[in-house]
Amino acid sequence: MEYLLTDRGRSELEALLTVRSLFAFDFDGTLAKIVRDRHTAQLGRPIRLWLGELAKRAPTAIISGRSVEDLRVRVGNTVPYLIGNHGLEGLHVTQQVVQQAQDTCRGWNQLIEERFGTELTRCGVFVEDKSYSLSFHYRNAGRKDDARALVFHVLAELSPLPRIVLGKAVVNVVPAAAPHKGAALLELMYQLNCTAALYIGDDDTDEDVFSLPDTRILTVRIGKNKISAARFFLKRQTEITEVLRSIVKTVDRHTHIRGNRHGVGLAQTTNGVE
Ligand SMILES: [Mg+2]
Repeated sequence: MEYLLTDRGRSELEALLTVRSLFAFDFDGTLAKIVRDRHTAQLGRPIRLWLGELAKRAPTAIISGRSVEDLRVRVGNTVPYLIGNHGLEGLHVTQQVVQQAQDTCRGWNQLIEERFGTELTRCGVFVEDKSYSLSFHYRNAGRKDDARALVFHVLAELSPLPRIVLGKAVVNVVPAAAPHKGAALLELMYQLNCTAALYIGDDDTDEDVFSLPDTRILTVRIGKNKISAARFFLKRQTEITEVLRSIVKTVDRHTHIRGNRHGVGLAQTTNGVE
């Protein structure tokens, strides 16, 4: 893994701008700081600003475990393409896949409530029903190891068995046949006619993208991680601001150069953003 904010990393970012590229990001822990109460997660002001500037210049997407509805509340119209439920929810998925996922989740939820509802609550585990996937949150559990063990005990009882996607103090379960973040990114690239992409994420759920055998995708993980398949890393979440700013500035520089060459001065302003 290499650090992204070096000459080499920056030149890889710059290379993305020579072709039509998709810029895609995870939400929690990547664009938004991880917070104790997940309902309060939001985009910091500089990130929102630079993300908006990027979206005006290039195809930009968020691919998150949250539902699209939840993401929409947090990002508004800053980013045009939102994919939720770990890759399962968005314009790229057929209605049949969505319906099957919904039916599967409904069945799981019913079994969980009937057989384990009381126990999970007592252990401090909150089960979030995201219609097409479920998330077992145990960030606020008194004894996290016990809570996690209980979650895995419950998961073994689910039928059909789910695909398990581990997050930070959360265990997500997704219907096994549902597309993951990697599949969602590739489909979105195809639909938007992009021949390259940047994807930044912070957690195991993002390894579905990092491990794609596709060299067109520049993969970046927040936090250096020995077992990650991502090629680059950022040291901390706040460095996202610098990445976004740098891409926007480079796009504008390229536009300016092209504009001058043709004598029309097409440089876009960034509305006073520095
Ligand atoms: Mg994340």
